[in-house]
This record gives sequence, C-alpha cells and structure tokens, in this order.
Amino acid sequence: MRKFLSMLLVIVMVLSMAACSSTPAASGSSSSGGASDAAAEKPMIGVTIYKYDDNFMSFVRRAIETEAGDKVELSMNDSQNSQATQNDQVDTMISKGAKALAINLVDPQAADAIITKAKAADIPVVFFNKEPDATVLASYDKAWYVGTTSSESGVIQGELISQMWQDNADWDRNGDGVMNYVLLKGEPGHPDAEARTKYAVDTVVAAGIQVNELELQTGMWDSVKGKELMDAWIAKHGDDIEVVIANNDGMALGAIQSLTANGYFDSGKYMPVFGVDAIPDALEQIKGNKMAGTVLNDAKNQGKATFELAYNVAMGKDPLDGTSWTLDDTKAVRVPYVAVTMDNIAFGEEAYK
Ligand code: BGC
Repeated sequence: MRKFLSMLLVIVMVLSMAACSSTPAASGSSSSGGASDAAAEKPMIGVTIYKYDDNFMSFVRRAIETEAGDKVELSMNDSQNSQATQNDQVDTMISKGAKALAINLVDPQAADAIITKAKAADIPVVFFNKEPDATVLASYDKAWYVGTTSSESGVIQGELISQMWQDNADWDRNGDGVMNYVLLKGEPGHPDAEARTKYAVDTVVAAGIQVNELELQTGMWDSVKGKELMDAWIAKHGDDIEVVIANNDGMALGAIQSLTANGYFDSGKYMPVFGVDAIPDALEQIKGNKMAGTVLNDAKNQGKATFELAYNVAMGKDPLDGTSWTLDDTKAVRVPYVAVTMDNIAFGEEAYK
C-alpha cells in the first residue's frame, strides 16, 4: 500500500510539472496548459502537420517553431497522414482552448470539415501548404491560406528544363530531337502535384521542344517510392530515358540513388534530374553534379507567414498586422518560388539556413 501511495505521488508530481511547463511543445508531442498556470496567459495555437515524415514539411514545422519561440503555447501535432487523426487533434485543441488553428491538411478536400469545427467554436484557422478550394476558404471569414502559387513552380521547372535541354545537345541521347522523359508525380489531388505535373510539361512544349512521356506515376512525394519507380523504369526503358522530372526533391533524390546504383554519374554517363523545394540534400546533389536544377519552395518564409498570421488572429488582430505579407483576393499569402541551379546555389543554401 505504502509503495502504491508513493508511486501515485510520483505520478501526480510528474503530471503537475508537465502541466506547469511553459516551454512550447517539442516536435512530436502536443501540449496544453491549465487555465491557472503562467502559460495560460500566452495564447495557445494549435498546429497540425499532415505527417512529420515529410522532408519538406519538417523544414516548415521548424520555421513555425522558431517563429513561435516562447510567444505562445504551441500545440504541434503529427497527423500521421490520417485525416481522421487530424480531425480528432483539431477537436482536442479546440476543447483545450486554442485561440487559433494552423492546419496542414492531410486531405486537401477536408478543409470543409475543419472549417465546420472552427466555425462552431468561433476560432480562426490558417491553412498552409495544402491549399483548400477557394470556395471553401471563402465560406468562413476567419479562414486564410499560406502557401504558394502552385502553377508557378511547374512553369519555373519547365523553363529550367527547356533552357538546359537547349544548351546541352548531348542530353538528346538518341539525337531524334524529342525529349524522352519520366515524371515522378506527388500526391494525386494535391494542388502542387497536379499543377507541377501539368505546367512543367506544358512549359517545355511551349518552348517548342517535342516531348515523349515514357512514364508518369505517383511517388507520393516520397524518396523511397521515387527510387523504386526509377529502378523499375530503368529496368524497362534503360538508356531511352533522357530526362527525369520530379514534383519534389524527395522523389528526385530517390531517383538519383537509383540512377547512381545503375551506373549513372560515373565515367561520363549522365542523367538530368529536376526537382522542386531546394532542400539542403538536393542542393548537395546539385553541387555534386547529380541534379541539374530545382525550384526553391520557401519553407522558412511559409512557416514564418503561417505563424505570424495565426498569432495575429489568435490575439484578435488583423491577420497581416505588423507583417510584410499581402493577401490576394482568395485570402491567401503566396510566397514566390525561385529557380535554383549551380549558378545561384548560395542563394538556395541561404534560404534554408
Ligand atoms: C512540397 C513537397 C511536400 C508537399 C507536402 C509540397 O509543396 O513540394 O515536398 O511533400 O508539399 O504537402
């Protein structure tokens, strides 16, 4: 009995220490504070990331945490790629008194369900990275979006590919004047994946280059899937593949692994690979001459804008108060994309510092 009581005492002490902590939630956990403790004076902001296991989103998450510092009580949640889990997390954050939500949807079509919850509790919500339909965003006056103009990344990637294809005659391995490409697509239905796939190829065609699509499949933004697809495509098409277009760097890195294992980037055997994001690992591959180019998807500024808007609205202020962001007519802050190659590699590196 005595042992039981002392164990109980330890548990109670640990729990009360956790409740009194004013440290923002560390990655991977969520936190909440009791109404009476010091942290309660800071507004609680509830954040969800669609899955922590996404290379690019880990940089956005870090930027949000850095911006938040100790200004707020941050409840950071990993939705583990499950919309049902995310919906539960939103319910929990609302019941714990969140003053604003910052939501990276799992399913872009689920914005409606989140808005219904936020509206019922009269809490503002800032969506980020996965853009909800404009009509859904317009249905709630306390909803905003922080992201990019998805098509812009496709256009910039297409311009890079066109320019470099025209500058490097030997990329047309069989000399037939047609670009034989394979395309690694992100998550189907994700506005970035759909737009990048369409606009990258449309832009190459608009530059007057004839193209032939050997393969187009989804690698779900994932480097392991990118590698598996590339393995299969090399086995099937061999040297007929002339260009690899990836909707993000994660999948491009997987493709590069596969190509390297298949003898590329050695003894003069080359394959131009293009990605999007400009994450540090991709910049390393550009420096090692294994990746031709990428497009900066500015994680730091998207994280910063997400936090700044969420913080302002949590404090009952105008979302743009004291910031340098602007909203377009769909209530979205759109951070620009920038092409990154060896020519401006330092710029890419600076953006992820
Ligand atoms: C990024 C991808 C990322 C996805 C997650 C995109 O904007 O380019 O790397 O996996 O967002 O939603």
